[in-house]
Formats: sequence, structure tokens, C-alpha cells
Amino acid sequence: MFRSKNKKKEKKIDEPEDDQEALKLKLAPARRQLAEETGKNRKIMENDRSNDEILILKEKLKTVTEMLDKGSQKILEENEKLRTINNRLSEDLNSTRSAIPILSQMHSSQVKDLISDLDQARLESNRFKIWGDQLKIQLNDANSDRNMTRRANNKLAKQVRKLKDTRKELVEDLSQKTVELLNTSLQYELRIRELEEQHGEPPTCEICEYPYSEDGPTVPMILECGHTFCRSCISKMSTAYAVECPLDRLSTDVYFGGNLKKNYLVCQIVRSRVSTVTDC
Ligand SMILES: [Zn+2]
Ligand SMILES: [Zn+2]
Repeated sequence: MFRSKNKKKEKKIDEPEDDQEALKLKLAPARRQLAEETGKNRKIMENDRSNDEILILKEKLKTVTEMLDKGSQKILEENEKLRTINNRLSEDLNSTRSAIPILSQMHSSQVKDLISDLDQARLESNRFKIWGDQLKIQLNDANSDRNMTRRANNKLAKQVRKLKDTRKELVEDLSQKTVELLNTSLQYELRIRELEEQHGEPPTCEICEYPYSEDGPTVPMILECGHTFCRSCISKMSTAYAVECPLDRLSTDVYFGGNLKKNYLVCQIVRSRVSTVTDC
């Protein structure tokens, strides 16, 4: 429309100025209208644009609102859950609170028991300590006793060793002396045999066959029948007042063997034999 009016204007370019003014006047309302239209159009366009933006924004708002609704729903649900949990917790708390006195009573009685147990244990440990001290003393005593015993044993062992040595020496000495004595007695026996061979049998008692001596139990005594025996044999054969000769059955009165006479002849023979042995 604008363009077409411009063409009209170009056609009337060579017209006089008055015409142009008149035309201007004529065209003024149209121009105004055009300007108005243009402004309206611009506004409409602007409105259209803002309407679009508004729509988009509305859409966005809707989305945001929906999101908010959803979020608030969720928040409500969570709140509900939290309330339930809270209730449960407060119930638990209440039951715990009511249990606390019972528990503390139980604990205090247990603590009392423990304390009495502890006291008992302390007493026991003290008793054990005393016992241990006594044992220690006894052990020390026993140790010192043992040491003393050990020393005594050592001393005894030394003495025993000494005694054994002495006994060994003595045994050796004795055996040596025994050998010497045996040799000596052997020599004497040989000598006696030699002498007996030279001088015949010595006069002996016919009952016990011991050789007569000048004195002692083998002294020759003569009976009333004339037979001679040693004093020992006669006193064995005697009753209180008499003795019977075993060869001829003749009785000799005696008073506890006191009134019998020595056979001096036999004594003389014995003496002569002894002097011969001594001379040799
Ligand atoms: Zn006789
Ligand atoms: Zn005799």
C-alpha cells in the first residue's frame, strides 16, 4: 500500500507546489492512518512476539509448577514417613526411659554382688599371701636344713672314706699278719712233730685225750683204784661225794673233788718233756 502511494507521488512530481501542498493535505489523514496502522502493526507484532514468549513461559511455568507439585507431594510423603519414624523413636525412647530405673537397679545389685565378690577375692588373696609367706619361711628353713644335712653328709662321707681306707689298711695288715702267723704256727707244728718223733707220745688223759699239764684243768689226779685222769674229766664224772672209775667201776669218796691227790709222777714226766722242748 505504501509503495503504491509512493508511485502516485512520483507521477505528480512536476506538478506545481500548491498542488503538492494540497495533495499533502489530502494525503495527511491517509498518512496518519498509515502511521497509526504501522504503529498498530508494530504493537501487534510486538504483542504477538510477547504472546509467544508468554506461551513458552507459561509452558515453562506449567512444567515448573508440575515439578513443584510433584516435589511438594514427595515432601509430604517424606514428612509422613519422618513422622512415623519420629513416633516410633519417641515410643522407643519412652520404653527405654521406663526401663532405665529397672536396669539401674539391676546394675546396682550386680555391682553390689561384684563388690562383695571382690572383697571375698581380696580376703582370699590376703590369705594366700600369708600362706605363701609361711611357705617361703618353711622353704628357707628346709633349704637351710638341707644345706646342713648336705654338709653333715659330706662330713660323714669323708669319715666313711677315711674309715674305709683305714679298714683296707687294717685288712691288708691283718692278712699279712695272718699269713705270718700261719707261717709261724706251721713252723711250730713242724717243730712239735719233730720233737714228738724224737721223744714219743706225751702223757694224755685217757678220757678227753688232752695232754696233761702241771697246772690248770688238765692236771693229772689219781683215784683210790690207782687210775689217773685229768681234773676236768674227774669233776665231770663226780657226783657230790663220789666218783666211779670208768675202767674198773671202783668208787672213790670225794668231797666236791677236793681230797684227791696230784699224780706227781706224771707231772714230773710232763716237766721233763717241756724242758727238753725249751732246751731245743
Ligand atoms: Zn681205776
Ligand atoms: Zn681228761
